[in-house]
Amino acid sequence: MRRKLAAGNWKMNGTKAALSELEALRDAHPDPAVDILICPPATLLSPAHSLVGNSPIAIGGQDCHAKTDGAHTGDISAPMLVDAGATAVILGHSERREDHDEESHDIRIKARTAQAAGLMTVICLGESLDQREAQDTLDIIGAQLSLSVPDSSTGLNLVVAYEPIWAIGTGLTPTPDQIGEVHDFIRSRLERRFGPGVGRSVRLLYGGSVKAANAEEIFAISNVDGALVGGASLTEAQFSPIIKALEAAV
Ligand code: PEP
Repeated sequence: MRRKLAAGNWKMNGTKAALSELEALRDAHPDPAVDILICPPATLLSPAHSLVGNSPIAIGGQDCHAKTDGAHTGDISAPMLVDAGATAVILGHSERREDHDEESHDIRIKARTAQAAGLMTVICLGESLDQREAQDTLDIIGAQLSLSVPDSSTGLNLVVAYEPIWAIGTGLTPTPDQIGEVHDFIRSRLERRFGPGVGRSVRLLYGGSVKAANAEEIFAISNVDGALVGGASLTEAQFSPIIKALEAAV
């Protein structure tokens, strides 16, 4: 059985004051029935790790470099994330693909490095609105999946997040049928590539304007093992109901 996962991506939001939200989240979920992951900005990784301590909440990075060290000013490596207390890293978020021209093959190399450092990689895939309207969604997702996911992936070190670009931060969400179609497709591709054992053990998250009001409907869709949440993960008040909806779906 795949353990469900509620992951929060704080993006470039939060200074030390935001740690009070993490503290509230920790106190609200001492024994969750699902995995909880918070990916704060890199500046907060270390204090966030100290704050969650031995609680069930895991801490993750939002990106890492393809190399483990060297002359790469401003970048952060996978071993540095581990050193700061991270156990996971988001890779290939559409904002990284867009703002930093990241291509799927870059993401595969980063993922290989991150997995070798012991991190669970949350690899993001998603189509634009134009691509969906042109009915190219499955072609785009299939190509991103095969190029972004390294051969070193297992059910423990890979999570795939389907995040339609047009749904991120917009309040728009695909219909349950549209989400189900893509998740079933990703599952079948993973099974074909890695075999049924690994293919069925990789968790698939949906991301894009998940909030308390739509969480229950999204978590009822087959092959949705949780969510990657941006805006609604920034406060305990908004994220806790999503976690509870996921626990109810267990
Ligand atoms: C995200 O950035 O991964 C995301 C899903 O954002 P939001 O929940 O705000 O749409």
